[in-house]
Amino acid sequence: MMPVMSGTEVLSVCRSDPSMSRIPVIVMTMDEDAEVTSIRAGADDFIKKPYNMPEVILARCERIIDLYEKKNLLDSAETDPLTGLYTDELFFEYIRQSEAYNDAPMDAIVMDIEHFHLINEIYGRAEGDRILKKVADMISSELEKGYGFACRPAADTFYIYHSCTSDYCDIADRMLADIGSMSFKSAKIRLRIGINKSVDRNDPPEQWFDHAKLACDGLRGDYTRQVALYDSSIHDRQLYHEKLINDIDKSIADKDFIVYFQPKYGISGERPVLRSAEALIRWQHPELGMISPGDFIPLFESNGLVQKLDRFVWEEAASQVAAWKKKFGITVPVSVNVSRIDIYDPELEDRLLGILEKNGLMSSELPLEITESAYSDNAARVIEVVNNLRGRGFKIEMDDFGSGYSSLNMLTTIPIDVLKMDMKFVRNMLKDEKSLKLCELVMDISRFLGVPVVAEGVEEEAQYVRLKSMGCEIIQGYYFSKPLPADQFEKLIEEEAEPSAKNS
Ligand code: C2E
Ligand code: MG
Ligand code: MG
Repeated sequence: MMPVMSGTEVLSVCRSDPSMSRIPVIVMTMDEDAEVTSIRAGADDFIKKPYNMPEVILARCERIIDLYEKKNLLDSAETDPLTGLYTDELFFEYIRQSEAYNDAPMDAIVMDIEHFHLINEIYGRAEGDRILKKVADMISSELEKGYGFACRPAADTFYIYHSCTSDYCDIADRMLADIGSMSFKSAKIRLRIGINKSVDRNDPPEQWFDHAKLACDGLRGDYTRQVALYDSSIHDRQLYHEKLINDIDKSIADKDFIVYFQPKYGISGERPVLRSAEALIRWQHPELGMISPGDFIPLFESNGLVQKLDRFVWEEAASQVAAWKKKFGITVPVSVNVSRIDIYDPELEDRLLGILEKNGLMSSELPLEITESAYSDNAARVIEVVNNLRGRGFKIEMDDFGSGYSSLNMLTTIPIDVLKMDMKFVRNMLKDEKSLKLCELVMDISRFLGVPVVAEGVEEEAQYVRLKSMGCEIIQGYYFSKPLPADQFEKLIEEEAEPSAKNS
């Protein structure tokens, strides 16, 4: 008995509309005869007016809503059997539906368990499952405090759509404490939580979570934080990285990568003498301009692509050494950087020997720089590889010495030919006493090991004078020259190479 259409007609419209069919309907009328018609038309409950006890009505409403939600879930049979959370399909469907009436600020959250595959491998799948279930239960109980829902789109990844909160660090700590209390096996678990705060409703829901995932992935290997907020700079950076990864092959083929040479000067004698050089890569990107290695080497180290670049640099450097040898009759050894990833290449030795053979060079003419932190990654492996390379006549320079964590004990067992002191000591040696003392300490260690020190990053005369007085033998830095393209470096050879550089 309503205007426009009758209650029974409203019911049948609701039932035939997919977006409204999930809404429970309770018919309340004085017309006793309407009960059967209403239920047949799809009503979920029938309450006869007049009613004197509103509490009873409320209880019936709550019950019917509860039943309905469960029924909807069962109907779709789209829950994750392990955790009881929604599947991602249903999760996104629910978000879309809730968006029709919800305009409160909401957060998209991606939660990940660090090294989850290791938990499965070490403790077995049952333990892995137990932990996943625990995390899901904790998420569910957090959700009860606010508004939202969650799903598990992949093994150890959870998506949570949640009304805005500011204490995610507290939640993470609480969850970790809870997991840690499960058993000793779970004590070392770390969660990563990426949050896209107050989602932008102009973007599709999938994108809210893609962004939260970027923030979450950015925490990989960062042991200082477990919660990260997404901001658009993360996205821009990701796009930039993807572009670099896409372009690497073409740029190698097109020779957009250029090898620069930075001279190293021997300073033991009366005047500095050009001794050797370091090959440093530059990327002259056709659209992005000159990119420095600090922007792409760490990225390419993280995905293994650095090996391609290193091989390119080794080839270029070797052919340059050979060309100068032919042109000037002297060898200017050019040291090349060997990335921590190359250490795991079983063909490393053969590759390097192949390059030497192709260019008619001896192994002493292509020294290898290996950063100290590679030794800390896996000392046994590096020592084995370095021993083999030295056995083949390669000279090994330990790069960035002082930036890693070599113990004095390890140093005595590490086979090296040169120590390259980390630049930060030189940068600060005249500014603070501690850096100066550390420079002196590195000099002492080198004397103890019987190897020369290369001081990198020398920019000022005062630093040069001080290092010389400490007994430092070789210097590389802007004070003498920035890294130069091959043709400009060649001018240095013409002007400065002395006969003493021969066969050095
Ligand atoms: P690195 O091997 O320690 O190279 C020395 C870095 O110090 C170079 O930076 C060089 O330009 C810079 N430098 C030299 N003298 C001075 C100075 O007086 N002042 C200052 N401020 N800087 C100075 P660059 O070329 O940007 O390279 C950075 C790092 O990228 C290198 O550190 C190395 O770890 C890596 N890299 C460069 N080329 C290659 C390569 O071909 N392969 C691999 N795996 N890594 C490379
Ligand atoms: Mg180096
Ligand atoms: Mg260095």
